[in-house]
Amino acid sequence: MLKGKKEIALIDSSTLDNMGTLISCFEAIGIKPEEVTLIIHTHGHADHFGCDALFSNAKIAMYENDAKSINAGNEDFACLQFFPGTELPKISFSLKDKQELDLGGMQLEVIYCPGHTNGSICLLLEPNKVLFSGDCLFVDGFGRTDLPSGNAQKLVESLKKLQKTSFKALFPGHGPILLGEEENRVHLKKIIEIVTNTFL
Ligand SMILES: [Zn+2]
Repeated sequence: MLKGKKEIALIDSSTLDNMGTLISCFEAIGIKPEEVTLIIHTHGHADHFGCDALFSNAKIAMYENDAKSINAGNEDFACLQFFPGTELPKISFSLKDKQELDLGGMQLEVIYCPGHTNGSICLLLEPNKVLFSGDCLFVDGFGRTDLPSGNAQKLVESLKKLQKTSFKALFPGHGPILLGEEENRVHLKKIIEIVTNTFL
């Protein structure tokens, strides 16, 4: 959750099973879910949009390729079969590469990173230099490429693209975070070596 002066934004809403935890977290920080104005999705998988309905006033954004599949009701694309009870959200507007989202006093830059899906993105928070990497890059690896629209070659290119951006903290879509600019530079290099040896 990012609280700017203009928008209260959420990057992905998590899997439906996390609804109770999410409600507790919002209670703990004193923000009502209805106060959230924007949900930005890193990609169109059900374990990332499962709690969207909780945020009844939020606009929902997703990269254009994935947004098209979700708004077309493509349940296979969203992997809905693995997350029973989850409903497809209605995407309010689609995102483009290098788009800047102004939250008020902080900005998110969209970095198009296909591979896990063909509409996957990472988001760079400025001025803090935090990278939200969705299911592209994890501390212990990288996103799978065997789901609909996944592409191993594109994932390798996307990870190499991230080397052009320096960031001080990595917040992936799953698993632990990684702090430190140098730590992240070394980590990304290592992951690219692993992914290259795996796929190419
Ligand atoms: Zn995913």
